[in-house]
Amino acid sequence: MDLKNYISDVPDFPKEGIIFKDISPLLASPEATGHALELLSKGLHDIKATKVVGIESRGFLFGTLLAQQLGLGFVPVRKPGKLPGNVLRESYALEYGTDHIEIQADRIKQGELVIVHDDILATGGTASAACRLIERCGGKVVQCNFLMELGFLNGREKLKNYALHSLMHI
Ligand code: 5GP
Repeated sequence: MDLKNYISDVPDFPKEGIIFKDISPLLASPEATGHALELLSKGLHDIKATKVVGIESRGFLFGTLLAQQLGLGFVPVRKPGKLPGNVLRESYALEYGTDHIEIQADRIKQGELVIVHDDILATGGTASAACRLIERCGGKVVQCNFLMELGFLNGREKLKNYALHSLMHI
């Protein structure tokens, strides 16, 4: 099964000049979702990770499935103001300006091994900020895990200190 057949290209979304990779056809197929989950979790059964961190919002979809599949806990990284309690915040650069993400400080314990999941790796700004949040909690990132990597944006460079696994490459 070629998973790329389940990702559609949406031109000029969310703004002109961007070709958005839409993962909803993948989610609409239980067979393709199951296949993607098998491939995402490859090699992770033997790693002594205890948590999967999923990045808002599409990272929550396969992130929670992956956590369940591996028997691990799931921890969300969210846009500012969405998580209650004691939160840590990191910022990352956008094309114009900066954005922020947050994690609940006590969801990851000192020394925990963590897998980071998001749907798409683009410039790598979001995922590297998520890794910094995990490290500030005392966790160690054992893999950054994506459905798709947009290679021309060179996100891999920002994540060069981490193991990286992506199912599809553009
Ligand atoms: P980055 O920080 O790597 O530049 O951007 C990655 C974030 O933007 C991810 O959270 C991802 O969901 C979102 N993103 C960027 N481009 C696309 C795209 O073409 N399709 C989807 N589904 N998400 C994207």
